[in-house]
Amino acid sequence: MNRNELKTLQPIVYQTLHNALMNDSLSHCYLFVGPTGTARFETAVLLAQSLVCDNTDDGWACQQCIQCIRIEENNYADYILIDGSRESIKAEQILNLQYQFSQTALEKAGRKIFIINNCENMTLKAANSLLKFIEEPSNNLTGIFITTSLDNVLPTIASRCQIINFHPLSKEVYYNKAMEAGLDELNAHIVSQLINSPEEIEILKNSESYQNALFRFTEFMFEFLKDRKNGMIYLQEYGFRDVVKDSDRRRDRDTIGYFLDIAEIFVNDYFSGHVTDDESWTALLNMAKEKNFDFTAFLQTVSLARDGLRRSANVGLLTDQMLYRMMGGAS
Ligand SMILES: [Zn+2]
Repeated sequence: MNRNELKTLQPIVYQTLHNALMNDSLSHCYLFVGPTGTARFETAVLLAQSLVCDNTDDGWACQQCIQCIRIEENNYADYILIDGSRESIKAEQILNLQYQFSQTALEKAGRKIFIINNCENMTLKAANSLLKFIEEPSNNLTGIFITTSLDNVLPTIASRCQIINFHPLSKEVYYNKAMEAGLDELNAHIVSQLINSPEEIEILKNSESYQNALFRFTEFMFEFLKDRKNGMIYLQEYGFRDVVKDSDRRRDRDTIGYFLDIAEIFVNDYFSGHVTDDESWTALLNMAKEKNFDFTAFLQTVSLARDGLRRSANVGLLTDQMLYRMMGGAS
């Protein structure tokens, strides 16, 4: 991630770090707090690069020089990355960090940097060793801790850090990223509302369950808007029938889950007057408008089906109930 991306994704973080880099007023320790998918780790790497880069510009790393590349590849002698995302961080890892950083800096920048990702995942012993270490910071040391929630970090550690908050990305940012990833306008619009991190764009883009759900929803809705009974027949004949028979139950559930999500997005678009260049979606919205369609029972059905899915009800039974309610059983 480069600094311009950071500026778009997290403008406040950008400004805070930029000021510190320009005024040479960096803290010894930072604590990056925010949900996953908010560019916390990428920002930590960019900051580390900016501290050792040969060609900084406006305070920021060039991300092209040999020093920047070595940080990126975790191949820089005075840089240690500890990642607690897969297993907990052990005291030995912290002791090793302490040992290495007690030696003279090896690189010409004379800067020592460590990043501890998912720092909440640290054994108490490790946290205590670390505490001793950061209590006596040296001038050439910069530490960056990354966590999802401040509540998970020992107050004694948090109090020694400058806390930087990362905010969840806006739907607009996701939408633009989805367009960049090659999704068409309608899919970018829907996907941006289903995800909580940019990584999920690729996952949905390649998800058969999602594609099926969108296809089925569009077909179903055409029939349903013509006549409720038609909608029911469609779902019975083509909708989830083959999905339910499928042996991969997880995928069935995913498809139905996406189907329900897409149904809600559709109703939302209807009420908000969303305009799209997708012909089928526009035709559906227009049909609903012409009929002045009452979505009350429909939304109830969707929300009940979602509850059923959460309580892991039998998928076949769930579909039957959904069909019954959509027929007007609940209206
Ligand atoms: Zn550089």
